[in-house]
Amino acid sequence: MKPTDKARNIYGKRTITLANTKAQVGPGWSGLIEKIWVKLPKSTLIEQVKEKYGTLRFYVSYVDEATQDFIDEVEHESGTICEQCGEPGKVRSDMSWIQTLCDTHYHETYEYKNRKDGTK
Ligand SMILES: [Zn+2]
Repeated sequence: MKPTDKARNIYGKRTITLANTKAQVGPGWSGLIEKIWVKLPKSTLIEQVKEKYGTLRFYVSYVDEATQDFIDEVEHESGTICEQCGEPGKVRSDMSWIQTLCDTHYHETYEYKNRKDGTK
């Protein structure tokens, strides 16, 4: 069994698969989730995975310092990768909610929002 097929414990005794974990954030960050997933020791408890203020948050319990440092690094890296497509991006804080997007997805989202608001 590959490490990526293994379900993990999450808070509240349920288990979560890699696919479920990836589904918590945009498809552009699937690679980042996988990078963390394969490094997690067996005892790790996944608390929550989400996007907050434009970057990935991967909350876990019972990890050693080295693993936590690695997770911090990958979370930081998410601020340079478009959450929608995985291309290089940056944190965009001038939208209705903060997101990390490439130029293409930034303009799409921004223009869509303006059309919806009727302010264009
Ligand atoms: Zn993109």
